[in-house]
Amino acid sequence: MLADVFNRPLRNLRLSVTDRCNLRCEYCMPEDDYQWLPREDLLHFEELSSLVDVFVEVGVDRVRLTGGEPLLRRNLSTLVGMLAKKAGLNDLALTTNGILLADQIDALAAAGLRRVTVSLDTLRADRFKALTRSDELDRVHAGMQAAQRVFPGRFKIDTVVINGVNDDELADLIEYGRRVGAEVRFIEYMDVGGATKWAPERVLPRRDILARLEATYGAIAPIQEHSSAPADRYTLPDGATFGIISSTTQPFCSDCDRSRLTADGMWYLCLYATQGLDLRAALRSGANPDQIATMIRRGWTERTDRGAEDRLALGDRRAFVPVKSLKKDPHLEMHTRGG
Ligand code: SAM
Repeated sequence: MLADVFNRPLRNLRLSVTDRCNLRCEYCMPEDDYQWLPREDLLHFEELSSLVDVFVEVGVDRVRLTGGEPLLRRNLSTLVGMLAKKAGLNDLALTTNGILLADQIDALAAAGLRRVTVSLDTLRADRFKALTRSDELDRVHAGMQAAQRVFPGRFKIDTVVINGVNDDELADLIEYGRRVGAEVRFIEYMDVGGATKWAPERVLPRRDILARLEATYGAIAPIQEHSSAPADRYTLPDGATFGIISSTTQPFCSDCDRSRLTADGMWYLCLYATQGLDLRAALRSGANPDQIATMIRRGWTERTDRGAEDRLALGDRRAFVPVKSLKKDPHLEMHTRGG
């Protein structure tokens, strides 16, 4: 099995299919203006599919489609159909903000999508509008209902918790998840890419998330499981489960088997990596699958990234990338790299 310097396997690939998004979440895309990836650089579905073949060849067995907002990529179900046919892939999932989900979910499921995660940070219309600069919360709810219908038991909700913004909605979101049949995962606010308004005091650490939920529900039990999944899972006294992704205060770099491919074919070994490997250039200059596999193997074997742990080790912590640098290189953005 292909392993990096710290013996971490390469198993998960996050495939960003577009850098465009129909929301402007203040923790991800807060600026008015963005430099977009040039259209001609975006990989065609055939190119994405052949790169995925190479990734599967070197050990990847799980792919998650992300973005930007992946449902903005035209005919996404066609790509899903191409990927779903690959014998070596054991999982094919999608992360979406849910706005376009109700319209597309049947086509995606028919094409072979296995699981869906919908991001939702607040149940309050006024807050949703302030946080995302959109008033389409009703469409997100419609997307959730569609996910409940089409992916029962294979549907999660991801919530970024921001102190002073939505930290009073933890139990409401768990109850909402119960109603729509989804497990909620609370994500600590991260200082990645576009999070230019990040500050340490805006993070609600895992221990505080747990303490608040215990005050509402009573004793919470951790679920013991061996997994490289980013969330640690917990059970409430009534049996409901939820997860916490504590990337900021208790990073899980030692188990990280994920890498990311941007919509224009740059391959990143860590969410915090500033340098990537240009697989589009290789592909379009005629490299064959074996040559690309060699590039990937070499890149992964030399991988030493522990980005979230390095950030934690810093004493004085501010937003990772200054706006000026983000404006020069869209690849540093979270919406380009895919969350
Ligand atoms: N548009 C899709 C969505 O909303 O799920 C996929 C892309 S989005 C970048 C993927 C995930 O990253 C979302 O759940 C989003 O909330 C999360 N995210 C973005 N910025 C973040 C930050 N600064 N800290 C933690 N999570 C973040």
